[in-house]
Amino acid sequence: MFRSTISDQDRDLVMMVRDLVRQEIAPKAVLYDAQGNENFDWSAIDLLAEHNLLAPSIPREYGGRGVGHLTTVMIYEEIAAACAGVAAAAAANMHAVSPLITSGTEAQRQEFLTQLTSGKARLGALAMTENRPNLNISVENSQVEILSSSVTGHWQDDCLIINGFKDYVVNGQVGSFITLLVSLDHIEKKSGLQIVILPLSLPGIRVGAIRQKIGLKYCNSCEIIFENVKVEPRYIIGKPGSGFLIFMQNLDRMVPYASAISLGVARAAYETALAISKKRYIMGRPSFEESAVSFALVDMAAQLNAARQSVYLASWLIDHELDSSQASSKSKILSGRAAHEISSKAMEIVGGRAYIKGYPSEIYLRDAEMLSIVDGSEQFHKSLIAALL
Ligand SMILES: Cc1cc2nc3c(=O)[nH]c(=O)nc-3n(C[C@H](O)[C@H](O)[C@H](O)COP(=O)(O)OP(=O)(O)OC[C@H]3O[C@@H](n4cnc5c(N)ncnc54)[C@H](O)[C@@H]3O)c2cc1C
Repeated sequence: MFRSTISDQDRDLVMMVRDLVRQEIAPKAVLYDAQGNENFDWSAIDLLAEHNLLAPSIPREYGGRGVGHLTTVMIYEEIAAACAGVAAAAAANMHAVSPLITSGTEAQRQEFLTQLTSGKARLGALAMTENRPNLNISVENSQVEILSSSVTGHWQDDCLIINGFKDYVVNGQVGSFITLLVSLDHIEKKSGLQIVILPLSLPGIRVGAIRQKIGLKYCNSCEIIFENVKVEPRYIIGKPGSGFLIFMQNLDRMVPYASAISLGVARAAYETALAISKKRYIMGRPSFEESAVSFALVDMAAQLNAARQSVYLASWLIDHELDSSQASSKSKILSGRAAHEISSKAMEIVGGRAYIKGYPSEIYLRDAEMLSIVDGSEQFHKSLIAALL
C-alpha cells in the first residue's frame, strides 16, 4: 500500500541501494562484525558517500537527495539487511541533522548539512543518552518530561559554557559534528533544555571510553566528555530553552529509522533461514517440506510484513506532517520484537551452524538484541504511548 505512495524515481533508488549493498556491503558483513570498532573501517561509509546516501532526507538545496521519510526508511532497511552496523552509522547522521532540518538556521544548515552531502566520507552524531547520572525522563500525569541532562551549561555573555558526559554515542569518535541536549543550570525542567550542534574538533570535547558492543559492531560507539566547551551562538539550535520541544518533535521523526534497521535484520534472518530450509535435507527431504518448518517461516514472514507496515505508516504520517507520536513508538515496539523473535526462530531453523561464531545467523540475533534498546526500550515507548491514551 505505502510502496505505491513513493515516486517511481524513489522506488528505483531503493532498488539501486538494494543491489549496491548486496554486492558491496553484505559480503563484508561478517568481517565488519569481527573487526568491531577498534579501527573504524571507512569502506562502507565511503561507498554510501559516493552515492549520496549518508543522509538521504537532507533537502536538495543542501546537496542531499531530498527524499521523504518513507523512502529513507526503505533505504535503511536495505542497508541493514546487508549490515545493520553500517545502517546504524548512517542512521546516526539523520539523527544528528534532524533538529537542524526542523529548527536550524540557514547558516547552521549550510555549515553542517552540506558536510554529509559533499561526496566525502563524513559522519554526524547525536548524543542524548547519559550514564552518570542518567538523562532524567519522567512520564507523569500523561505528560512526558525531561527533567534534566547531566551535560549542563551556563551563559557567559551570549555563549554557553558546557560541561558533562554523554554515552554510547554512535559515530562519536569518528564523526565531524555532534548534536546534543544540554541542561541550563539556572532554569528548571522543560524550559531549561537546549539543543546545540558542535564540531567535534572544538576545544574541550574529547572521547572517553570506547564501548565494545555485542551487536551493531561496525558502528563506533563511545563516551564523549565536555570540559568547559565554549558554545558560540551560531551553534545553538532554536530559541533559548527550546530544547525539550525540539527534542520531542524530533524523537518521533528519528524512531522509525531505528525501526527500519530492525526490519532489515529481521528480513536478513528470515531470508537466510528460508534459503537454508530449502537446501538442508533432513531424513531425505528439505527441512522446508516439514510443515513445522514452513509454517514457522510463514509466521516469520507475516510478522515481518506487519512490522514493516507499522514503520511505513509512521513514516507516511511524518511525510504528511501528521501526528506520528503513537505510530512511531508502535513501529519501534513491533519492529524490535520482529527482529528479536525472527532472528531467534531463524537460528533454530538453520540449526547447529547458526550457533557458530561468524555465521550470519548469530550476528542477526546479537544485532537484534541491541536494536531493542537503541532509541528507547519497549517499556519506554509503551510509557510514551500510554501518556497519549
Ligand atoms: C549500540 C548502542 C548505540 C547507541 N547509540 C546512541 C546514540 O548514538 N546516541 C544516544 O544518545 N544514545 C545512544 N544509545 C543509547 C540508547 O538509546 C539507550 O541505551 C536507550 O535509549 C535506553 O536508555 P538507557 O540506557 O538510559 O536505559 P534506561 O532508560 O535506564 O532503561 C533501562 C531499562 O529500564 C526499563 N525501562 C526504561 N524506561 C521504562 C519505563 N518508562 N517503564 C518501565 N520500564 C522502563 C527497560 O527495561 C529498559 O531497558 C545507544 C545504545 C546502544 C546500546
